[in-house]
Amino acid sequence: MATPMTASQFVKALKDEGATVAEHAGWRRHNRNGHGAWGPVHGVVIHHTADTDSLGLCYSGRSDLPGPLCHAHLAKDGTLTMVGNGRANHAGTFAANAVDAMTRGAAEHPRPDAAEPVDANTITYGVEIENLGDGKDPYPAVQYTAALKFAAAICRFHHWTAESVIGHKEGTRRKTDPSFDMNRFRADLADRLKSSTAD
Ligand SMILES: [Zn+2]
Repeated sequence: MATPMTASQFVKALKDEGATVAEHAGWRRHNRNGHGAWGPVHGVVIHHTADTDSLGLCYSGRSDLPGPLCHAHLAKDGTLTMVGNGRANHAGTFAANAVDAMTRGAAEHPRPDAAEPVDANTITYGVEIENLGDGKDPYPAVQYTAALKFAAAICRFHHWTAESVIGHKEGTRRKTDPSFDMNRFRADLADRLKSSTAD
């Protein structure tokens, strides 16, 4: 049973990992708690925004999908801006086989089943990486590394392996994000987690 990090634990873990962290005004009390459970947590979900200048959207959300839409927004320059502390509207429902693999830290991440019985907003942290998601918009090295830092900070805190980190597209057939190879991301993350000290 992994109890979610507090806001202070989250920021400390990210900074210990060497991340550049900014804090959106009000983020420490901004969440969807009360609209469903928050925790215990079992993994991390990687997203791309499919948009530009989406920090405000990630905090506020839309009329049909209230924010926060993730826990942190990741800009092209590698800055992670905290936008949510608690339950966030980032993942939606997930397939049971995907959640099982993530929770067990399985080396194989199966194609998600069509049925999606799991409320993934209860059990996962999420980062939104600013990228158009068209396969052409690049992820600058500093941004990609910051995504690794985000995931590594959480994995280290909870003593998870890289296999507890999945792409949105690996949790549900509804999504295609992120637009990079998650097996490569997990391999890079595993390398990073082998080092005892950050950066
Ligand atoms: Zn997503």
